[in-house]
Amino acid sequence: MTSCLFCGADRTSDQCLACGLTSAAAEVMLRRRLVWRTAWFLVGAVVFVPVCQAFPPVELDSILIFVGVLFFVVLGLGLWMVNRARLRQEIEVLKRVYFGFLPVPWILAGLLFINGKLDTTPPQRETTSVIGKFSMPGVLRTQRLVVASWREGRRIERVPVSRDDYDRFQVGNPVVVEIQQGVAGIPWIYGVYRP
Ligand SMILES: [Zn+2]
Repeated sequence: MTSCLFCGADRTSDQCLACGLTSAAAEVMLRRRLVWRTAWFLVGAVVFVPVCQAFPPVELDSILIFVGVLFFVVLGLGLWMVNRARLRQEIEVLKRVYFGFLPVPWILAGLLFINGKLDTTPPQRETTSVIGKFSMPGVLRTQRLVVASWREGRRIERVPVSRDDYDRFQVGNPVVVEIQQGVAGIPWIYGVYRP
């Protein structure tokens, strides 16, 4: 063990010369910092949900899968790090990767918010038809209309819609999907209408 668990400085004795903490005290401080930063990460993930509902990207499912995987990777890394710290093993690289991942939900939420909020591009309207629908229970509680795709090389699109729109449209109904291009170039669904 060469680096201080808390400040990461090289050390030769049990007490770190840079921050003055012994390895046991550094472990306690590390855990405390981990708890706060992880809470910050979780708040970011919670903020991400309403932003996704306000300005749902066309590729919402891929983004949700990415965020879901990230969520478990980050929590797994955190637990691994706590375990290694307890065994007084080196955690410097792990710590950098872990702390590097923590702002990602905030960055993504901010990006999607700006992408939709500042969007003044004229909407693109696509007339298509509903070929299926599904509702996901749980924390996210999102509804999708499965429609025939307007994009080349794709068969279907899963359009995120509000509960009202979900109830209003039935399989076989024609539907107009209004798509905005997004300030950051992430196309998002403005709304769905009856033709
Ligand atoms: Zn230190």
